[in-house]
Amino acid sequence: MIIDSHCHLASNQFKGDLEEVLERAKLNKISKLISIGTDLEDSKKCVNISNKYHNVFATVGVHPCSVTDISDTDWLQKISELSNSLNVVAIGEIGLDFFHSAPNGWDEKSYRNKQKEFFIKQLELASALNLNVVVHQRDKGEQCWKEIKEIIAPFKGKLRAVFHCFTHSWEAAKPLIDDGHLISFTGVVTFKNATLIQECVTQCPLDSFMVETDSPYLAPIPFRGKRCEPMHVRSTTEFIANLRDSSIEEISEHTSKNADSFFKFERIKL
Ligand SMILES: [Zn+2]
Repeated sequence: MIIDSHCHLASNQFKGDLEEVLERAKLNKISKLISIGTDLEDSKKCVNISNKYHNVFATVGVHPCSVTDISDTDWLQKISELSNSLNVVAIGEIGLDFFHSAPNGWDEKSYRNKQKEFFIKQLELASALNLNVVVHQRDKGEQCWKEIKEIIAPFKGKLRAVFHCFTHSWEAAKPLIDDGHLISFTGVVTFKNATLIQECVTQCPLDSFMVETDSPYLAPIPFRGKRCEPMHVRSTTEFIANLRDSSIEEISEHTSKNADSFFKFERIKL
């Protein structure tokens, strides 16, 4: 049994066939799916999906690329209220994105400041609610990564973060893992040019990582370029098992255990 720790089931790309997508996940022995919220509306949809399907859980939060779309002054209160829903297992996805340029009407500096403000406020909220956080980070260089680490440092011991779609080296991962955080691998690890990530996969301890699809994006090889869906987390897990000279059973067992302790499912249903 494998847990897809990060998928976007509220995406329009799943609108037409969500039932079939979930059925295929089940046939591929995907035991739990975490549907990740990216703004207020999307988070609400994730909560609704998690209430409808017993093996789907939700996170709620504002993604760094969505911060300029939020006009509600009480957005944080709204996230807080949504987080009270039964199947919400973390705040996310939150973080910083310096890869995409500022949208129309925003200069780079104020856009980044807005992202930081949202990131910090949601970290504080998660810490107050005793929830962990799903962290997004993307950049053309290293600045974003540097700032994420600075922002998250004071929260050590108060919450755990999962650095989703991890694409850095093992040297970059190690201090985070030492601070109690997790990293998570998508289908990107299966790509031919992903040697840095593959090296990280072979070195990180079994209790330090999870697996995910980030579907509908980032389908692993051999599905690259197609719509990704939760069942594809099996290919990624298999690939990781091969790289580590391990079995898919062993990797599934440990990544599921890590997800269990991170998302604290036992508080909810089952
Ligand atoms: Zn995502």
